[in-house]
Amino acid sequence: MGDGKNLTPIPYLKDKYSGAPERLRREAEAARDRLFSNRTLPPSQPRKGDPIRLPPGVSAEAFESAIQDLRGAIGAENVQITDQALVDGWYVESPNTHDAFHIVDQEGLVSSAVVYPGSTADVQAVVRWANRHGIPIYPISLGRNVGYGGAAPRVPGGVVVDLGRRMHGILDIDGENASCVVEPGVTYFRLYEEIQARGLPLWIDTPDLGGGSVLGNAIDRGVGYTPYGDHFANHCGMEIVLPNGELLRTGMGAMPGPNGTDNPTWQSFQHAFGPAVDGIFSQSNFGIVTKMGMHLMPAPEAHQSYCFTFPRDDDFEQIVDLIRPLAQRRILGNIPQLRHVIEELAITGKRQHTFRLDGDTNANRQLTREEVHVAAAGLPLGECAWVFYGTQYGDRASIAAQLDAVKAAFAQVAGSRFFLPEDLPPSHYLHDRARVCAGTPVLRELDWLNWAANGAHLFFSPIAPTRGRDARRIHEAIVAAHARHGFDLFPTLCVAGREIHYITNIVYDRGDAGAKARAVRLMREMIAECAAMGFGEYRTHLLFADQVAGTYNWNHGALMRFNETVKDALDPNGILAPGRNGIWPRKYRGKGWELGADDVDMKVIGPKL
Ligand code: ADP
Repeated sequence: MGDGKNLTPIPYLKDKYSGAPERLRREAEAARDRLFSNRTLPPSQPRKGDPIRLPPGVSAEAFESAIQDLRGAIGAENVQITDQALVDGWYVESPNTHDAFHIVDQEGLVSSAVVYPGSTADVQAVVRWANRHGIPIYPISLGRNVGYGGAAPRVPGGVVVDLGRRMHGILDIDGENASCVVEPGVTYFRLYEEIQARGLPLWIDTPDLGGGSVLGNAIDRGVGYTPYGDHFANHCGMEIVLPNGELLRTGMGAMPGPNGTDNPTWQSFQHAFGPAVDGIFSQSNFGIVTKMGMHLMPAPEAHQSYCFTFPRDDDFEQIVDLIRPLAQRRILGNIPQLRHVIEELAITGKRQHTFRLDGDTNANRQLTREEVHVAAAGLPLGECAWVFYGTQYGDRASIAAQLDAVKAAFAQVAGSRFFLPEDLPPSHYLHDRARVCAGTPVLRELDWLNWAANGAHLFFSPIAPTRGRDARRIHEAIVAAHARHGFDLFPTLCVAGREIHYITNIVYDRGDAGAKARAVRLMREMIAECAAMGFGEYRTHLLFADQVAGTYNWNHGALMRFNETVKDALDPNGILAPGRNGIWPRKYRGKGWELGADDVDMKVIGPKL
């Protein structure tokens, strides 16, 4: 079992930019202890392969001399070779050397070194160095990126550029414009605490967990749950180091301000003049973003979180059709979540087998519907099938009017029930949901990782139309795929007026090679089956990026041809994050790096020699 002893102290924000906030001390300790008590793997193991995983095609001598060059360029203390035992850690103490939630071998996607630039000029120096030596680099901001690949470079042996460690300044918070400018290492936790410390009536928008990078999440097109939940839509102005080392500012920032200052409207207007280029730097490998502006939400007079339960699995279609007009008419204040009741069990932080009626601890089967029902009946929301979590914003009178409309709609589902936070015990998830939906970052969502020993997870995140019959088709395909591979299904639907981010979490034991192999097969099959229905992923783990990119193949892959043209023009030596989002530079293209739908054996993820 896990090692309760010899734990290093949890880093908090006062000590470390990536730490947890002091106000969450109790929660952080409890979360870590629970995760470690469900760990059967040792904290680290000796490296099995070569002590250093060299970049492809680079000899040990050439690597050594390149590293000397890099040390000379940005300081020896800012370059670290990855030759140590790999430590998966946990959310707050996450590694920058590999993917903590490895679905290949722990060493399968490991870096050769990590470099810590301290300024935009340093980032330019690193990029120029990579071009000189033909070594692939992989930028991360915090490197948490849970469920999508963590800090791992797609090309093993790549050099991770850890931007966050030394570039984590909150460069500006403008109370009048309601905006901020941040460097890559600024987490939601830190931005939130800073705004509180300054006493400004502004909200940030945070994802379910608050340790990610505000900048990194926005360029990866992540989402949160206040009215400002579309992070990329709410960014305003970027500074980018291009793969050739040149520096670019987007939006109004392309026009200099007077006397060498930043343009005064850089954080006021996103698009400026000419083609809107910001988008090509999101989910791409076309540049390294060193600064980003974000709009902040003026704190509303009031907000009210709530949930509804619905009794039957088959209510699903009707619920989706009821949400659509509420969302399109903007009666719903944010992007609400529709979850299956099994997630009420998972968020208790207990292991899956504790809910089994037969006492069987075999890891490879789903809970039965009966087991879910029996367990749910003993929980605060009681027996049900679906739970809708929403929040309304505004003044008290408008919130009351909005809630009346929402209640009138959901009352059409026989047996639906309505809950406010005060109806539920303080430990119930609705209280954490209320915090997130009011822009207060928390750690609660770590709890469901305890479902499996050595809990790790993968996100499967397709987009479906907000139409009951379509939602049912994708849901049924995902249900069937999970049943085939013995994984419980945790559907979290983020439902907007016209589309649903259908987010599912595949929770697996990262110490169990068989479970990993099943998870890979499950992902591959779902990607293919959903694509056949016209439903594509909005984001994916880096090992599935080739397959997902391959599904966006209208007109014989016109989109990928366009991306490759841009990539080759901006990055002729192919040094920046080759393979990210399925975009391979010419140097790597067609040489065996791409992983397709049939690549279910992840033992070898590069060219098969
Ligand atoms: P998180 O914010 O969850 O810790 P990361 O820092 O790992 O996430 O960022 C998510 C992904 O976005 C990374 O894998 C990386 O490919 C990309 N990314 C992050 N920061 C930058 C950046 N400053 N410039 C370019 N790409 C970045």
